[in-house]
Amino acid sequence: MTQNYRITLLPGDGIGPEIIAVAVQVLEAIAPQFDLSFSFTEALLGGAAIDATGSPLPEETLTTCRNSDAILLAAIGGYKWDNLPRAQRPETGLLGLRSGLGLFANLRPATILPQLVDASSLKREVVEGVDLMVVRELTGGVYFGEPKGIFQTETGEKRGFNTMAYTESEIDRIAKVGFETAQKRNKKLCSVDKANVLEVSQLWRDRVTAMSADYPDVELSHLYVDNAAMQLVRNPRQFDTILTSNLFGDILSDIAAMLTGSIGMLPSASLGANGPGVYEPVHGSAPDIAGQDKANPMAQVLSAAMMLRYDLNQPAAAAKLEEAVVGVLDAGFRTGDIFSEGNQLVGCDRISKELLSRLA
Ligand code: NAD
Repeated sequence: MTQNYRITLLPGDGIGPEIIAVAVQVLEAIAPQFDLSFSFTEALLGGAAIDATGSPLPEETLTTCRNSDAILLAAIGGYKWDNLPRAQRPETGLLGLRSGLGLFANLRPATILPQLVDASSLKREVVEGVDLMVVRELTGGVYFGEPKGIFQTETGEKRGFNTMAYTESEIDRIAKVGFETAQKRNKKLCSVDKANVLEVSQLWRDRVTAMSADYPDVELSHLYVDNAAMQLVRNPRQFDTILTSNLFGDILSDIAAMLTGSIGMLPSASLGANGPGVYEPVHGSAPDIAGQDKANPMAQVLSAAMMLRYDLNQPAAAAKLEEAVVGVLDAGFRTGDIFSEGNQLVGCDRISKELLSRLA
């Protein structure tokens, strides 16, 4: 029986509409091969939404997203909206979407494809074969903890502070995502904290350790965050799935991304407790190349693959998209962001055609 999925599309701004169109085409191409069908509904977010409605996240967009099985987002933002008050900025729409959907888990893979090893700033022998996933807690920790603020002390000096706090249930729900993600990968989970110094990290470590009894097939290890940062650039191949809090994950996921050296290739997923997840490239809206057929659509296509794997539970369809991306790279087609000598420089349209010919 054909499985139908309702997908909300949020093309956003800049190169967003160009790259999301490619994702739609590849999803439609593989659908019949896996007995799937997709109903796509487009909604407004970011600058495009500001222009049309005055709000970066219209209520209608949130409702459409909540009523779908998964959400495919491209990117938002651009020079045009940079000087608006914070509440009307495109980024405010994105944050509102994340909190409106309760997205507490952020998954960012960093995979070094053999064809792009030389795009990394690290030595080939260090990065070759890297295939890791950072699972970051997204709605708690020091970015949201109360109390926080900047206050005047008795001596007249100002004092700024934030609170790094996690409850047991907040730790448990992200740890569960970490273990389940590791189960879908190579079954190794490294939890990163600062338990030698921070009480909040000690609680984190205790809860993660306790939960490991429920996942006997996953090998659990722990690292302090300073060591994890060093290990990521020293020997990144040792990692499979990394589980960490909001602040540490913010930093470690960017280090992991830079291992690959190619921003146009990196997908991500943000997941909630039971509603739909949001799948989007790590990169921004690239206004400098928008509308010029220069955008690399592969991070968007790989985001669609993550959507198939993590939300829709269609790993074979996901693998098909990932293989097509590898096939196009193998054949030497490159957009400007990943171009190197000896390859053929092409635009977004051509990459799209090459992907489709491999999916037919
Ligand atoms: P960016 O990621 O948009 O671009 C950085 C550089 O990488 C640019 O030179 C761009 O041309 C290039 N690039 C990015 N994606 C590419 C792709 N798919 N193919 C080819 N080249 C690509 O970051 P930025 O320039 O700092 O930000 C531009 C806008 O995007 C800003 O308004 C920013 O706020 C927004 N932004 C949005 C998101 C998001 O939607 N999640 C994330 C980051 C930045």
